[in-house]
Amino acid sequence: MIPPSGSGEFDLIARIRARVRDRGDVVVGIGDDAAVLQPPAGQQLAITTDTLNVGVHFFAETRARDLGWKALAVNLSDLAAMGAEPAWCTLSLSLPESDPAWLDEFIEGFLDLAGEQRIALVGGDTTRGPLSIAVTAIGCVDAGRALRRAGACLEDDVWVSGTLGDAAAALAPWPTPRDALRRRLERPQPRVALGRQLVGLAHAAADVSDGLLADLGHICRASGMGAEIWLPSLPASETLLALEANDRVAWQASGGDDYELCFTAASSQRDAIARLAKELDLPLTRIGRIVAGNEVVALDALGRPWRGERNGYAHF
Ligand code: ADP
Ligand code: MG
Repeated sequence: MIPPSGSGEFDLIARIRARVRDRGDVVVGIGDDAAVLQPPAGQQLAITTDTLNVGVHFFAETRARDLGWKALAVNLSDLAAMGAEPAWCTLSLSLPESDPAWLDEFIEGFLDLAGEQRIALVGGDTTRGPLSIAVTAIGCVDAGRALRRAGACLEDDVWVSGTLGDAAAALAPWPTPRDALRRRLERPQPRVALGRQLVGLAHAAADVSDGLLADLGHICRASGMGAEIWLPSLPASETLLALEANDRVAWQASGGDDYELCFTAASSQRDAIARLAKELDLPLTRIGRIVAGNEVVALDALGRPWRGERNGYAHF
């Protein structure tokens, strides 16, 4: 039952609790001092936290539903990059005021995605303050099998899922709104199924949250390798291609918020990866290769190194 509109912290928590779905492995969920969870035998836990702050990660006017979706999506994207199966999450909300209608919408977006990915909301915290949302997500992965940033090997292929640059393009000042781009920014699809299938197939993986070159840079640093990326090979959506914008390549190579997976794999896996793309109905594009060194070099159509203005988003 949804409790009557109230203003207190406990009314808000009760509104959330009334809507969460159960999972058999939640021994104690919302309502006690801590959740108690039962991990499957032989599995390890992957744990990740991401915070969204108003004015930094999203505009104040962002719809509550989209915010709820995205707060969970960015965390599921990190679990996907580890090859983990989402299991449980917590939600810390800092809210400037008690607004039950806003909260209901927020929770609806959050639980839409939680239901899709079978992740249970098992606890959190609700406080007053500037609008800020912190989610912790926990996933399970067979012991010793998690995908890592470290592990890229010399001459591996570099792959990326989906398309790049839509979210960055959505932030550009277009004369007319581009709904397809906005949707990519506001409703990212974490590549959870792909991540799980990449276990045992990919050598290294990361999700593309800060920008392809920056995130591939993390893989290279962790692996003690360099990479060469072919800019003309970067996948773009039809919407993005139709724009013919000068910034397109920069958005694809260094724009943030794509939440695709970038991974490396031996060239002997090309057929398996092509089959996986078919099975998941998700484009998987070979965009470069791992080389010796410690740099990520992006090459244009003529094989000339390309330098963007920035390689990704950094807070400080
Ligand atoms: P405590 O004071 O013991 O930390 P709280 O009053 O903060 O307990 O929380 C009561 C219960 O509600 C706990 O189980 C907590 O995990 C849960 N909870 C609080 N806020 C949220 C939230 N935003 N989303 C989900 N669960 C929440
Ligand atoms: Mg608390």
